[in-house]
Amino acid sequence: MAEPLLRVEDLRVEFRTRKGAAMVLNGVDFHLNAGETLCVVGESGCGKSMTALALLRLVPTPPGRISGGRVLYGDEDLAQATEARMREVRGNRISMIFQEPMTSLNPVYTVGDQIGETLRLHSGLDATAARERTIEMLRQVGIPAPERRVDDYPHQLSGGMRQRVMIAMALACRPDILIADEPTTALDVTVQAQIFDLLRELQRDKGTAIMLITHDMGAVAEMADRVIVMYAGRVIEQGSTAQVLGSPRHPYTRGLIACLPELGSSQLHERADLPEIPGVVPSIWELGQGCAFRERCAYAIERCAAEVPGMIEVGDGHAAACWLLVDSKEAAQA
Ligand code: SF4
Repeated sequence: MAEPLLRVEDLRVEFRTRKGAAMVLNGVDFHLNAGETLCVVGESGCGKSMTALALLRLVPTPPGRISGGRVLYGDEDLAQATEARMREVRGNRISMIFQEPMTSLNPVYTVGDQIGETLRLHSGLDATAARERTIEMLRQVGIPAPERRVDDYPHQLSGGMRQRVMIAMALACRPDILIADEPTTALDVTVQAQIFDLLRELQRDKGTAIMLITHDMGAVAEMADRVIVMYAGRVIEQGSTAQVLGSPRHPYTRGLIACLPELGSSQLHERADLPEIPGVVPSIWELGQGCAFRERCAYAIERCAAEVPGMIEVGDGHAAACWLLVDSKEAAQA
């Protein structure tokens, strides 16, 4: 089996606050294979976006910092790479697109200038070649009349067009990995579907691995090869889309999926946002010992308050972090 493109091991991020150090990521482990789409799901504040920022070493420092773990891109640990090396990696080998493109596009430069600059910086193209490539990229992401649109400023484009420009910029240097953090949340449903179609098409053509952070379970069912579920700064379940959506093993994942009436035979037929599970994600100050989900979990046992469960393998590539699985595994082996 081919080595994963990216391996994240025990990744930890802490923020210094007046109350002390707050662990925002608490030992995150997962991998991303070449050419696949990995969806990352979980409620707000579970650490999805912080994981993405940490991979690219964009955690706001101070007050935040990566306090442990490794981000292995091939044999290279990006958590230890120099800032100069990270500037080469960002946008060139690993790109990121955000929910609201206006926060990433500079309003005083044309879209052509901005994509062209990425190309000149990372691909060494001269101004004429960069402009030609930019027009080609705009065409590939479905911008009509790209020869004209290349000279538009961001405010002259619709939200959907701006997100297409961001995708063009992110893919301009043919990165190995595209991290997309809620890329369609600010867009209407029709445009969302178009953007997901576009990402799938570009992935097919270019073989880019996509790490898609999303609240949209329809997008998970449609896009994902594999899924990781995060809760309180940890990965609590991971597996193929069929495994996680079809036979979820962690009570949190089960709760998410049980709230989705559209889910049938592991496919969601309509778009649905991440449903709510009663209770709230505990604040990082309330985590203490034990399983972070215990206050909301109908199955909690004594051990859940005392020790954090590790990931238990429950199938080929399918694992979840819950003490009940240890007990059922021991019972099965007895
Ligand atoms: Fe619930 Fe305990 Fe499993 Fe946590 S470890 S999900 S509290 S049963």
